Amino acid sequence: MNTTTIHLRQLIGGTWADGAGVPQRSEDPADPAGVSVAEYSTATEEQLEQAMAAAGAAAQDWDRRGLLGRGQVLRRAAQLMEDRAEDLAVLMTREQGKSLADSRGEVGASIETLHYHAAAARRPDGATYPSGHPDEVVRTVRRPVGTVAVVTPWNFPLQIPVWKIAPALLWGNPVVWKPASDTPAMAVALAEILVEAGVPDGVLNLLLGPGHLGAALVGHPGTAAVTFTGSVPVGHSIRDAVIPRGAKLQMELGGHNAAVVLPDAHLPSAADAIVAAAMGSTGQKCTATRRIIAVGDCYDELVGELVGRVEALVVGRGADAGTALGPVVSAKARDQITAAVQQATDEGAEVLATAPVPDTPGHWVSPTLLAGTPELTICREEVFGPVTTLLRAADLDAAIELANGTDFGLTASVFTRDERVARRCVDELVAGLVKVNAPSTGSELHAPFGGLRDSSFPAPREQASDSAAEFFTVSKTAYLRLAPEDNS
Ligand code: NDP
Repeated sequence: MNTTTIHLRQLIGGTWADGAGVPQRSEDPADPAGVSVAEYSTATEEQLEQAMAAAGAAAQDWDRRGLLGRGQVLRRAAQLMEDRAEDLAVLMTREQGKSLADSRGEVGASIETLHYHAAAARRPDGATYPSGHPDEVVRTVRRPVGTVAVVTPWNFPLQIPVWKIAPALLWGNPVVWKPASDTPAMAVALAEILVEAGVPDGVLNLLLGPGHLGAALVGHPGTAAVTFTGSVPVGHSIRDAVIPRGAKLQMELGGHNAAVVLPDAHLPSAADAIVAAAMGSTGQKCTATRRIIAVGDCYDELVGELVGRVEALVVGRGADAGTALGPVVSAKARDQITAAVQQATDEGAEVLATAPVPDTPGHWVSPTLLAGTPELTICREEVFGPVTTLLRAADLDAAIELANGTDFGLTASVFTRDERVARRCVDELVAGLVKVNAPSTGSELHAPFGGLRDSSFPAPREQASDSAAEFFTVSKTAYLRLAPEDNS
């Protein structure tokens, strides 16, 4: 593995420039005292102004490139990403901590996403309507919305940026992007690929820096649309800055996702799916299963299925063969998760299962299965790590009420062989994605993705190309009437 420190720069108007702000380092979460992964200086608000000006200046030429021309750039980016796939996966594991298998999966999904949006360029891009005038055609036309502000988290440092930036670019918009401070090297790697693929100067601008730089970006009057993934409090502050000035906003925020297990479920496969969904990526997925609701008399048998699986999880360096769970991203994240588990046990939760962690320096968190009650703080507030709590419900009505009993509404899963129960859950679970006999995590990139309530914001969904087109454009209706023939 490459263990040198990478020097990172800002991308502004097609030029890679050192940040004029504060020096920063990013660390390897599996070896925080070791060699830094990356070093850079943060961008300043003056550099944000330069990026916004560059984006505005580049907009018209990019628009005139046309959908097919822009789709070609995305296709080239997919090819470049494929050529570098293993290097990107290794860097992702080093910087974010996830297992190499997870990193490879994320790189693969990002390549697919680029291909998918590239192909969307070839779909019909408007509708025609009859006109009352014989010489007239009425049709809808999609136009770029304007400069798009993209703010992304560290848990999917490639995939989430790609699923926002690819459609923003395809539909003709310049982008100014602030990635998470914990994963700046992945952001630079993606920006390099897009530039090499042919994204013109100024069309993509990358600003590395802290949260308040993100706040300045989304609050900038020059941003016509903001797409954000991250925590609920930051999401709400962004909403309050963006909505009053009439810009478009798309947000995917936290979750507190429930898995409802009915007594007729196939319990071994339900346990496989639940442990994968709760603990995969060290629990650092917004769609992770945070609560398991055992209905009726399946509780004890389900405990038996879950405990062994949790205890068998291998925690270690993401780069090591056999690692199921890498470290969590930072010391701060580790401390928050550990404190939340402590608070849960103080409030009466019982620890049913944990797994050993390495005794080397690293941001290790033991995967933890708790048994508890819905009143626990951990059953209401999102803890972004490998912790899940088992609850009891007397019947399906009580289970649905419990599952819906948080402020969130991202995903939910139900395990049953009864199709009527499954359909009822699809209708009544308050979640943007409902999975039947499947993990609460994971989604198809061509299907709409997004939550309800505090997990989201009412705007076109992410991923699916139809909703992406709706978010990243404004629609016009054109009345195209032939001029009278000139017989003079
Ligand atoms: P944060 O909300 O802390 O950060 C997300 C991004 O916002 C980062 O780039 C961060 O910068 C930036 N930011 C921080 N403060 C501000 C601000 N005031 N204004 C504008 N931008 C700001 O979330 P995390 O990085 O901790 O990500 C984890 C969260 O993301 C979890 O709650 C998780 O559930 C959610 N998530 C949701 C998903 C979904 O699709 N629903 C998918 C993945 C994650 P910096 O890093 O510099 O602080």
